[in-house]
Amino acid sequence: MINVETITVGIFATNCYLVSCPLTQEALIIDPGAGGKNIVALIVQKQLKIKYVVNTHGHIDHIGANGRLKEEFQVPILLSEKDLTLYNNPGFGLSLVLKKQPAPERFIKEGDIIEFGEQTLKVIDTPGHTEGGITLVGNDLVFCGDTLFAGSVGRTDLAGGSHPTLMKSIKDKLMLLPWESLVYSGHGPATTIGAEARTNPFISGLYQ
Ligand SMILES: [Zn+2]
Repeated sequence: MINVETITVGIFATNCYLVSCPLTQEALIIDPGAGGKNIVALIVQKQLKIKYVVNTHGHIDHIGANGRLKEEFQVPILLSEKDLTLYNNPGFGLSLVLKKQPAPERFIKEGDIIEFGEQTLKVIDTPGHTEGGITLVGNDLVFCGDTLFAGSVGRTDLAGGSHPTLMKSIKDKLMLLPWESLVYSGHGPATTIGAEARTNPFISGLYQ
């Protein structure tokens, strides 16, 4: 069993997840988009030992507190190399002046295993929302960033986005996972693979 704490942060209401091993309290911070102070407070309260910061993709609303958390916990930042350009140029290609985050220490890609305590999550590549979007897969749960949402799918009109690529990632990767898997998305409520296969208007036509 993996423990999951959800903390919704920033003006884009991004879900930041604290994912931990109940035996050792070793933990990952997934997508700290903003609200570093609140995230730190929850980590201290839950007595978690942070091992990595993991970004599902390079958008500012998923990486914005990386620097604050790295400073606090001195842990490596993990990201797909394919999103490095986005990561280094935050602001969605708009002329927003945003603070650059510290460089990732490790690039992650399909097949990589991220260990924390007795637990592991596997990396799969799920491009489409961005070129370097990844999903973290556990036994009965997934963290899919902005690839799939309850009742919707990720937008593809930003730099590096492609709707056909996104739908291929969903159909050929996410929908092949056990349908009872809990889906923790980058925004909005949690869902399951099966619920989206049956009812998500972008997907359900494929399975009827
Ligand atoms: Zn995004």
